[in-house]
Amino acid sequence: MSSRENYIQFLQQQNLQEDDVLPIWPTGFDQDQNDLTIGLLILLNRNLIEANTAKNVLGLLQKNTNDLLQVMNDYLRRELSFAGIKNIPPAFVGVFPWNSFNGRAKMTSSGPLILLTTGFIEMLEATSNLLLAERDLQERVQLLSKLIIDFCDSGVISTTKSLDHPSFRGEAQAIAVSLVSESEFFVLCHEYGHLANGHFESATSTSVKSRKGVMDVLTSTRRKEYEADFWAIKAIVKLARQTKKPIGQVRCGILFFFCLANLIEMYLRISGNLSETDGHPTAVERISHAEKMLIVYGANDSEMWNFITSAHLSLFNLVHHNLFGKTLPWDEMALLPPGSN
Ligand SMILES: [Zn+2]
Repeated sequence: MSSRENYIQFLQQQNLQEDDVLPIWPTGFDQDQNDLTIGLLILLNRNLIEANTAKNVLGLLQKNTNDLLQVMNDYLRRELSFAGIKNIPPAFVGVFPWNSFNGRAKMTSSGPLILLTTGFIEMLEATSNLLLAERDLQERVQLLSKLIIDFCDSGVISTTKSLDHPSFRGEAQAIAVSLVSESEFFVLCHEYGHLANGHFESATSTSVKSRKGVMDVLTSTRRKEYEADFWAIKAIVKLARQTKKPIGQVRCGILFFFCLANLIEMYLRISGNLSETDGHPTAVERISHAEKMLIVYGANDSEMWNFITSAHLSLFNLVHHNLFGKTLPWDEMALLPPGSN
């Protein structure tokens, strides 16, 4: 099994040390930990989050992002195993300082490493802040549009600290943390889906350029991407049922990730900078595939998470219109526009 040593070794091969990668956590989530604790307790009290989420968040506040990912990874592997999903290939998870918005698996002689990019984690955190702080709607649209443009054009990521807003405290912060972890769980599970399906056994690698240099990644195909999403959604729903987490929360996190990925992908495509052309389906195609599965699993089981999903879809729709002059392709996404049901 790959270990922390393999991860550090891998970073060294890229002329990086862990200090170059960290810290990215906590960023804006550490403004006032008492407030966050109270927010988590409110949500717990109303049965809006499950105890494990609250416990994990509280336990992690003093730690860095790599520690956070280890706890998430251990938790995920343990719960998946309790849920009867055995034979999950062991992998070490770490941050890679890359300004792309995704996760990647990398094979080492000791086993696979799963790398979540800095851009992915920071964009999720910053966007969840914009969604949950009490800001004027136009201000949200302008800030999120700027976030997308800066990220795609120059790799600059506004951390939640620079976006800090006095209303982003307590309950808002607690919901944001749950939402971000939900998206991270999905992307982790997607990479496990590739490993569980043996996708990397015969894969060739390709070099992908980033502002932090070049990295060899394993090539994928449309079929593999859909299979990994399918595996991840099935596993994560099973896990949610086991821990009594609403499926609506799972859906919210998955759509949050994909809708943000769609804005980034659209912007890069239009500006001629979409570098990854290794057969990935578009974010819109993946949303449609995920949504069809999630509806079958009964994703309308939580009023609060339905509301948050609807709120983020509205925001993403307005930003899409602001950047590209048209609304989100609801039909292609197999999604109902917010407010239409
Ligand atoms: Zn993939």
